[in-house]
Amino acid sequence: MANPNNIYEEIGIQPIINAIGSVTMLGGSTPIPEALEAMEQAGSSYIPLIELEEKAGSAIADMLNVPAAYITSGAGSALTLAAAAVMAGDDDKLIEQLPNTNGMKNEILIQKRQRYWYDRCLETSGATLVDFGTNDKTSPEDLENAITEKTAAVHFFMVEQELDPNALSLEDTIEIAHNHNIPVLVDAAGQVYPLELMGKAIRMGADFQCVAAKYIGAPQSTGLALGTEKMIRQISKQSFVGYEGRRIRGIGRPHKVDRQEMIGALTAVKYWMQTNHEERLDSIETRSQTIVNLLQGIKGLNATLINNSIGHQPFGVHITIDESIIGMTLQDIVDKLKDNNPPIWTRVSNKNSYDLNSDYSDNIEIHMFGLNSGEEVIVGEKLVELLG
Ligand SMILES: *Cc1c(COP(=O)(O)O)cnc(C)c1O
Repeated sequence: MANPNNIYEEIGIQPIINAIGSVTMLGGSTPIPEALEAMEQAGSSYIPLIELEEKAGSAIADMLNVPAAYITSGAGSALTLAAAAVMAGDDDKLIEQLPNTNGMKNEILIQKRQRYWYDRCLETSGATLVDFGTNDKTSPEDLENAITEKTAAVHFFMVEQELDPNALSLEDTIEIAHNHNIPVLVDAAGQVYPLELMGKAIRMGADFQCVAAKYIGAPQSTGLALGTEKMIRQISKQSFVGYEGRRIRGIGRPHKVDRQEMIGALTAVKYWMQTNHEERLDSIETRSQTIVNLLQGIKGLNATLINNSIGHQPFGVHITIDESIIGMTLQDIVDKLKDNNPPIWTRVSNKNSYDLNSDYSDNIEIHMFGLNSGEEVIVGEKLVELLG
């Protein structure tokens, strides 16, 4: 087989070793072979995309045990389309008016504690984010008091592996919002395992939940909107397919998804729901442990296995250092790894990399997601060479 890297080297780009994990800026996902094969087949015929969205969406909804689903151009696009959907609903005039929100309910409430990297995707619809609660805590009254006649939805950021005891829970959010007839949007992009998390927010009563298909072996340019029949119908009206198929010009026109990608996402969901997750997790744990073992006994360095199997990025290695002993900062280590041939990419992590409120960064996390088999040894040995 030809060296798959030649295609990059031909144009002067050196492939890297990805020790960060699933990050968009490095490619985001490794599509599974089954998805790639299905995509190739999908490319050989033309089909009406409205029909493909409907059929693929309903197959995904059945597999995930939710009323309805829609394939989008990433979870980010699902957020934008959902925000547009809660403002314009089924009204074609309003759909064509966005992102100008004059005369519409246009505020999306979000807990101050839950402000995060991707909340911007809601605003690109024309909606305005309005915080409630404080950085320390959110109470039910905070949400009650924040609701006005301008409120279009309440947004919730779901991270089951790090449940936040000071946030208002999803249960309370749904109860309070629905008492006021306000829909609830949930970003559960990384909540792909245990499998029951896929669609959990919808089964709890939320109106919309997004999933990033990059985390389950689909092309990284795909995402899933899950939701009630009504929400998904309204999202479809905002999509590029609605724009071209209904001749109603919604804001989703630039969020294109190819038919190959739709089939890739559908195939990835199918395999994700059937795959042997015990085996998957065992392998990731063992490979993470390989790095932990290599790094034992280095003075001034502490490497531990991250004990987590929930979400999109199980296990991995957590590294902290005593700079005075190591004689380098974490950033120095990151820079030196990048100077390797081939470059090894890691980064200094925030406590929670999505959290806009937290700026302290005291560790490096290494994840197996983007490491080809065996590369964990290269990464571990390079660290030993640098620091041992
Ligand atoms: C990755 C991610 C997104 C964006 O998903 P894309 O599919 O890359 O658009 C949104 N929210 C969270 C929590 C994510 O991890």
